[in-house]
Amino acid sequence: LGTLYVVATPIGNLEDMTPRAARLLGEVALIAAEDTRHTSRLLRHLGLSVPLLSLHEHNEAARVEQLDERLLRGESIALVSDAGTPLISDPGFVLVRELRARGRTVVPVPGPCALVTALCAAGLPTDRFLFQGFLPAKAGTRRQRLEALVQRGETLVFYESPHRIRETLSDIGTVLGERRVVLARELTKTFETFLDGTAEALLALMEADPDQARGEFVIMVAGAPPREESEAATLEAEALLAALLAEGV
Ligand code: SAM
Repeated sequence: LGTLYVVATPIGNLEDMTPRAARLLGEVALIAAEDTRHTSRLLRHLGLSVPLLSLHEHNEAARVEQLDERLLRGESIALVSDAGTPLISDPGFVLVRELRARGRTVVPVPGPCALVTALCAAGLPTDRFLFQGFLPAKAGTRRQRLEALVQRGETLVFYESPHRIRETLSDIGTVLGERRVVLARELTKTFETFLDGTAEALLALMEADPDQARGEFVIMVAGAPPREESEAATLEAEALLAALLAEGV
């Protein structure tokens, strides 16, 4: 039986391709790729020529049988996305779930991942963090998602594209209030930048220098500060009073 290798690829800097990942891409019978044109550029860079098959969110479920047949024939397959680790805000979850359910061998081949890359250099707590992927595109649902996070004490991590970075920062400021935000832009690339400040301050920076709004972003937001004991006690007293009043005591 063949193996499915889930292979991480660079998020910008091609030197971040691990030797193991490069070797495996050259050894498999087939590479299932989010965008075959994108991956063929990586293969050219590595001096490899391997058959490619597209696997994206719209055809992933339909590809399962086809790929499983290849595994049953004893062929190994690599799964890659355009950048970073497959399945992390990228296709692959349905394939991995189905193949595991069928008892096939799925082997992770670790490497770059934007959220870990951003967190390890941001200077925000990393002992507990909450990865939220991309926030919803619609303003109403985006704010609702943020409102649900107001009390969370973990560092919050979001992915964002240049199209929505300003709107998202603005909503973060409005809903989560005045907190420290670290914006990691163009990680591992020439214009890698870390900006640090409140959402409002970062928006002002982008206003002054529109280049700061270009590229790919990981947004990290400090978790909610622990509630002051006195504040908690006041809230408890208020709740008790409300309960007593409701009962007509
Ligand atoms: N699978 C990828 C990973 O392992 O991080 C993420 C894929 S997701 C479709 C793309 C998003 O990841 C971008 O919109 C951005 O939020 C983040 N990202 C990817 N590469 C990045 C980079 N070089 N710098 C900053 N953010 C990046």
